[in-house]
Amino acid sequence: HTIQSHLLAGVPASQSIAAAQRARDLKAAGRDIVAVTVGEPDFATPPEVIEAAFSAAREGQTKYTPVSGTTGLRQAIARKFQQENALAYDPSTEILVGTGAKQVIYDALIATLNPGDEVIIVAPYWVSYPSIARMAGATPVFIEASPEHGLVPTAAQLEAAITPRTRWLMLNYPNNPSGAIASREQYAALAKVLERYPDILVMSDEIYEHIRFDGSAFISFGAITPEMRERTLVVNGVSKAFGMTGWRIGYAGGPRALIAAMTKLQSHVTGGASAVSQAAAQAALQMDPALLAQRAATYEQRRDLVCGLLAASPALDVVRPSGAFYVFVRVRDTEVLGGRPVDDFLLDHGVAVIAGEAFGSPGWFRISIATHDADLQAACTRILSAFSR
Ligand code: PLP
Repeated sequence: HTIQSHLLAGVPASQSIAAAQRARDLKAAGRDIVAVTVGEPDFATPPEVIEAAFSAAREGQTKYTPVSGTTGLRQAIARKFQQENALAYDPSTEILVGTGAKQVIYDALIATLNPGDEVIIVAPYWVSYPSIARMAGATPVFIEASPEHGLVPTAAQLEAAITPRTRWLMLNYPNNPSGAIASREQYAALAKVLERYPDILVMSDEIYEHIRFDGSAFISFGAITPEMRERTLVVNGVSKAFGMTGWRIGYAGGPRALIAAMTKLQSHVTGGASAVSQAAAQAALQMDPALLAQRAATYEQRRDLVCGLLAASPALDVVRPSGAFYVFVRVRDTEVLGGRPVDDFLLDHGVAVIAGEAFGSPGWFRISIATHDADLQAACTRILSAFSR
């Protein structure tokens, strides 16, 4: 008899968190491992954000907040959506703050799904989407996005995945792990299909919005047509953009009935996000955006470094990311692996990566570039030598 519920027993623990922990354990045990696993900026939280949190705590912002978030933070989020995404949301009814984007995604799926419902997920995908869908009793249905189409699903692929049970389409651009960014045309083609299926909701996870390279444009799926705005939950957060993973603040804008359902759920689960963290997030959203551009430029240099180095290996196909902070690599010559998972194989060569299986893409692996150049250089040297045998 297992202690876990049937639903929980049906999902693995987060493989990316597990892989990062395994690398830390091996390093602690004295192994010479370069870890490029974590999906977490190596940048610190901006000092003015820390100051704002400190003042808020001193001024007594240490109590329960409204379940959907403080008025100040919801207003700052509404302004962000308006200014950066051309999306108008009423801060009192169409915005929700949660304990990380992760909890916001969980709220949305748990609040809306019934057993037997289907959630369309595009592979490669962020590890938690299928697990959260399963914990809601739903069934994930996968679309394999192809490199020929920029790792964004086509209208035909979407059409083929839709059934009468489809409840959600999950989108994530810039994408973790591939770094792909969807264009306005690609989104418009998906929206055109969705117009014929008015009951399908769309979750657009835009957490990597600010990390883009080569001047790539960004459009929110919620802003693609007025009709899509009415059934898209636009998810974002401060973790990746501002180096604030540990503060645990994510947020979403969306249609009133959906936000109300998520707020009701959250009222029983957390009661709302941490008051001090919400004050910090508000300060972050009010900062000069120049900082974000500066950090994106650093990631872009690292992207160039890693893609440049790995291009030397005929055993690997490197998808050049347009955003986010990962490089997703396909192992062309899998014989070298000798039948072993690619993460185990590379650990033997002193590099910790995340195997593509975690993202629904066997035969691939993910390198995080949220690490300084020296480690990236060492990781690439070890990867090249591992695949040169
Ligand atoms: N969405 C994607 C695609 C992510 O990569 C992550 C973090 O790894 C999250 C959501 C969750 O971010 P947080 O809960 O820190 O806001």
